[in-house]
Amino acid sequence: MSEIRKHYFLDEYCIIATERSKRPSDFVSKKLEKSSVTDCVFCAGNEGKTPPATAVYKKGDILKDTKKELVEGWEVRCIPNLYPAVSNEFAKPVLSGWEVQEGFGFHEVIVESPTHGRTLSSFSDNEIELLMQVYRDRLYYYHSKKNIQYVSLFKNWGECAGASLEHIHSQLIALPILPPVLKREQAAIHAVDGCPYCHMIEKETKSERMVRENKDFVAIAPYASRYPFEVWILPKHHVNHLTNCTAEMLRSLGEMIRFVLLKYEDLLGFPSYNYMFYGIFGDDSYHLNMRCHPILSTPAGFEKNTDIYINTVTPEDAALYLKFE
Ligand SMILES: [Zn+2]
Ligand SMILES: [Zn+2]
Repeated sequence: MSEIRKHYFLDEYCIIATERSKRPSDFVSKKLEKSSVTDCVFCAGNEGKTPPATAVYKKGDILKDTKKELVEGWEVRCIPNLYPAVSNEFAKPVLSGWEVQEGFGFHEVIVESPTHGRTLSSFSDNEIELLMQVYRDRLYYYHSKKNIQYVSLFKNWGECAGASLEHIHSQLIALPILPPVLKREQAAIHAVDGCPYCHMIEKETKSERMVRENKDFVAIAPYASRYPFEVWILPKHHVNHLTNCTAEMLRSLGEMIRFVLLKYEDLLGFPSYNYMFYGIFGDDSYHLNMRCHPILSTPAGFEKNTDIYINTVTPEDAALYLKFE
């Protein structure tokens, strides 16, 4: 049996293919071998091997590298990407039949720990809370810059997720445009009464796709899950963007993210994973959400041809495995 599913307000489809249904143990992957830390540019002690840091979190202070002095003894370090996807110079769009816009923007790496070999699942309450604060600060910082419309904040963990360095880090890319996928979603949200995400939370927390809730957030396996064990984390009360979360909410969010990653490890070994944040700065009708999934298969011809994803684990089964404490 297979089912084509669609989120009731999003133009996103998936195919739930239970004929190929798998149990978590069919996906188990091994932990990556640790490479030598001496040549890792993200490790404490190697600060000079990266561009100077734009923000360094150290014992409650937010500092910056200068040409003369690199901050040592840090907890989280934000640095420009050495190989940026976009450039910091703004160029006006050139129209010539094809619309060309130069790759203006900012590309930053957030090094989440000075220590090689750490995983987010092993972070203490204070460490994960600090990381969420860094996320909020950096999103705010880039959204305050001229000509920036959207800041993509994401984490690629593990070889299969596109992480080129194993030292724990996230990335953000600030863009002069709102990505089409969010534009379409924004239009869909503006076209209905009330917030569809609030409605989804009300409905899904009573469904078999509910995974867990804590003080401020819920985790659900989305109805039209594109990937096995996909999880969406949403604030219970309407907030449009991570920059509008209180310190207490950030603590809850970090706790929920750590829970999901720990469950992935329990069920799947040490899978590669991606997570990314969705929010529209300045549009109160949007509802902040964070989406996370282990990388257990690679989108191939069919997915690229149709933008419809074949998923071999039903979200109902995924939730059952994920919520089991
Ligand atoms: Zn390292
Ligand atoms: Zn809402």
